[in-house]
Amino acid sequence: MKKELGDCCRLVAVSKFHPSGSIREAYRAGQRIFGENRAQELVAKYDELKDELKDVEWHFIGSLQSNKVKFLVPFVSLIQSVSSQKLLDEIEKQAAKIDRVVDILLEVHVAKEETKSGFSVNDVYQVVKTFIESGLYRHIRLRGLMTMATNTDDEQLIRHEFHSVSELFYRIKRDFALPDFDELSMGMSNDYPLAIAEGATLVRIGTSIFGEREYNVDSNKK
Ligand SMILES: *Cc1c(COP(=O)(O)O)cnc(C)c1O
Repeated sequence: MKKELGDCCRLVAVSKFHPSGSIREAYRAGQRIFGENRAQELVAKYDELKDELKDVEWHFIGSLQSNKVKFLVPFVSLIQSVSSQKLLDEIEKQAAKIDRVVDILLEVHVAKEETKSGFSVNDVYQVVKTFIESGLYRHIRLRGLMTMATNTDDEQLIRHEFHSVSELFYRIKRDFALPDFDELSMGMSNDYPLAIAEGATLVRIGTSIFGEREYNVDSNKK
C-alpha cells in the first residue's frame, strides 16, 4: 500500500474495529500513522500500545463529542474531524489546561449524505478567518482540511467533490498567512486514487489494508 502511494502523500491506516494485533502487524511492516473514529477505542488502543510502539502518530477521524475531547488532547497527533465551532472552543480549553498545542484539520462537508458532518464549503473560509482574527486559539495549530466524498460509483461526482475542497484549501492557504496549513486529508479505500489526483496529502485507508471490519469483536482484545 505504502509503495503504491509513493511520495504523493502519507498513509493513515484506519484501524477502527480492528484489534491491537492488527496495528502491531502493520507497525512491524513500517506503518506509523493510525486513524480511529471512536474516542474510547482510540484511548484504549493508545493505552495498550504506548509503551511498546512509541513513535506511533494517532489521528482521530470520527465525529467527536465535546465531552471526549479531554481524553484525546494529551496524546493525539492530529484531530482531523473538527466540524463545529463548539469543538474548536473545547479543544482550545482542554489543550490550554495542559499547555499543549494540538494539531487539527477542519472537516468540510461536500458529500450528498446528510449523516456526514463538517462545515459547508462556504462556512469554512469564515471559520478560518475568525480563528485567526480572534487570536483566541493559541493552543490549536490549524493544519488544513479533511473531507469525505459521497459513497457512490459516480467518479465524476467524487472528483468534483474532492476538487472543490482542494480549491478551497489552496484559496485559504493563499489568503491567510498560516505557516503550517499544509495537509489535505481525503480519500478512502474506494476513492483514494481520485483524491490523490486532486492533491491529497493524507489518505485514510482501512479496508484495503486490514480487510473488512470486525464489528462483533471486542476491539480492545488482542
Ligand atoms: C472508516 C473511515 C475511513 C476508512 O474507510 P475504508 O473504506 O475502510 O478505507 C476513512 N475515513 C473515515 C473518516 C472513516 O471513518
